[in-house]
Amino acid sequence: MTQTTPTPDAEALADCVLCGEPTEYPASTRGATYCPVCEWQEAQRTACSG
Ligand SMILES: [Zn+2]
Repeated sequence: MTQTTPTPDAEALADCVLCGEPTEYPASTRGATYCPVCEWQEAQRTACSG
């Protein structure tokens, strides 16, 4: 994607299932959605579970 499209419509974003912050995913996304912070934390938790 080299072209920047002027967001015509502010798409509704899903809320993070952990902290309730808006995520980068559209509300239509299925399953659990995480904000960048929680997503990172989940990744860390998964990486070093134990
Ligand atoms: Zn979050």
